[in-house]
Amino acid sequence: MTTALVYDPAFLEHQTGHHPENPHRLEVIVSALRQDEALWESLQHLAPREASDEDIMRCHSYRLIDQIRSLCERGVSRIDLDTTICPKSLEISRLAAGAATLAVDEVFNDSTNAVALVRPPGHHATSDRAMGFCLFNNVAIAARYAQVHYGADRVLIIDWDVHHGNGTQDIFYRDPSVFYFSTHQYPYYPGTGAANEVGLDKGEGTTLNIPLSEGTPARTHREAFSDALKKIGKGFQPDLIIISAGFDSRRGDPLGGLLLEDSDFAEMTKEVMDIADRTGGGRVVSVLEGGYNLDTLGETVKTHVTALKF
Ligand SMILES: [Zn+2]
Repeated sequence: MTTALVYDPAFLEHQTGHHPENPHRLEVIVSALRQDEALWESLQHLAPREASDEDIMRCHSYRLIDQIRSLCERGVSRIDLDTTICPKSLEISRLAAGAATLAVDEVFNDSTNAVALVRPPGHHATSDRAMGFCLFNNVAIAARYAQVHYGADRVLIIDWDVHHGNGTQDIFYRDPSVFYFSTHQYPYYPGTGAANEVGLDKGEGTTLNIPLSEGTPARTHREAFSDALKKIGKGFQPDLIIISAGFDSRRGDPLGGLLLEDSDFAEMTKEVMDIADRTGGGRVVSVLEGGYNLDTLGETVKTHVTALKF
C-alpha cells in the first residue's frame, strides 16, 4: 500500500498571530511523523503546486478570490472576527487547495491513498465567503477536480471535524454526485448541521448530518459514525472518498467538547478504507481541517496516517 504525504513548509507562512489556527499545528504534526522513522520513510513525499483559478472557481466565485487578493495586498489582517490573514495568505491558500488536488492525482495514479497536511483549513468556506479560519474549500475543490480530471462519478466527503462543514455542505447541497457526511458537535459553531439538513432538489438524500451534543461518549459517537458510513457505502458507492480530517473532535481539544481518542481515529480511518476498498479501488484522500491541542495533535495525526499506511 502506497501512501502519499503532500506537504509544504510554505504552509507555516500563513501567519495568523495569536490564534488557535497557527503554524505550530503543522510543526507538531510533522515532528510527530518524523519521529516515527519507519513511517516517515515509508511515505511518498510530495510538494504541491498552487491551485489555478480554474480549479478554485469550480467551487468559488471569482469575487471571493478577488476579495482575498485585495485584502492581502492591502495588508488587512482579518476577513471576519475569526478569520485572520497575512499578505501571503492568498498564495498559501492556493497551495493548500493545490495540495488537495495533488492528493487526488496521486490516488488515481501512483498511490493507494494520500494525506494533505495543509493550512489554512477549508470546510467552512462557502462559494462566496471565507469564514471560520477557512479561505478556500480544499476538499470541495478536490472533489470537483476528481470529477473533471478522472471522471469520478460519485465522491463521498466524510467530515469528522468537531465543527460542521457548512461550506462543503452548501457547495454540494443540490448535487447528487457528491455526498457530504458529517458528525459534529451541535449546537455549535457555525450553527448549521441539523439532522433535517439532507440536501435539496436532486441533492436530497446526499447530505447526511449527525449532530452530537457536547460530551457525547466516544462509543456512542463511534457507533453513530459507523452505522451511517455502512449505510452510505451500500447506497452511494463512491469512486473516491475524501476525509475532511479535523482532529478537534478529540478529547481535550480547546475548541471542542467531543471525546474521541486517538484509537477512535485509527478505527474510523480503517472503516473509511474498507468502504473505499469495496467501492472505489481503495482511493482515500485525507485533508487536514481543525485540531488545536498542540500537546496531542501530532500523535493523533500520526495514528491516522499510520492507519492509512499499514
Ligand atoms: Zn473544527
